[in-house]
This record gives sequence, C-alpha cells and structure tokens, in this order.
Amino acid sequence: MVNYCRQSNDCPRTGYGNKRYMALLITRHCINCDMCEPECPNQAISMGDAIYQIDAERCTECVGHYDTPTCQQVCPIDNTVVTDPDRIESRDRLWEKFVVLHHAS
Ligand code: SF4
Repeated sequence: MVNYCRQSNDCPRTGYGNKRYMALLITRHCINCDMCEPECPNQAISMGDAIYQIDAERCTECVGHYDTPTCQQVCPIDNTVVTDPDRIESRDRLWEKFVVLHHAS
C-alpha cells in the first residue's frame, strides 16, 4: 500500500503533480473477462446489464492503495477502462472517498 502525502499536490514521490483526476469508466470494449472486479480495492466494479461497470462514488483511481488504477493494469483490452471526462475530481476528493470507504466508522 502506498501512503500519500496530503499536504501537497506536487508530491515528488508519487509524481501526482498537476495531474487531473477522474473516476474511471468501462467502455463497450469490455469482454467480461472478470479480471478487474476482484482486483478493485474499493469494490467499485460490478456486473451491469451487459458488461462490467464502475461505481464512480467508490472509485478513487486507486488513490490510497496503488500508484496507478489497478483495473486498467489488469484489463487485457486496450482503451476499455478509461477516465470519465464527466467525473473530474480533485486528488483531495479522491482521498476523502478513500478515507470514508476504509476508515469511517
Ligand atoms: Fe477500483 Fe481502482 Fe479501478 Fe477505481 S481505479 S474502479 S478504485 S480498481
């Protein structure tokens, strides 16, 4: 697990700098291979009507867990798990989601 500094958006260790954050989206290229769903640390991925889908309220781009979105890493099909331009979020917002999902009681 990666521990992220919350004091700066220019952390030299994580390289997050001025990156724009967005929740992720699974496109129609999905072949339902089942690789991503068990890898999501936030249980954000589930089967939809026809293909897998991501719950944007639970997706943190894996902030708090991994350096990069793990669903993108395990997906075997290019351009299937992509950033959702309609869900631009700040790094702080993704961090808050991580904290609420895993540390709120
Ligand atoms: Fe889950 Fe991470 Fe993919 Fe978001 S980016 S859906 S948190 S595996």
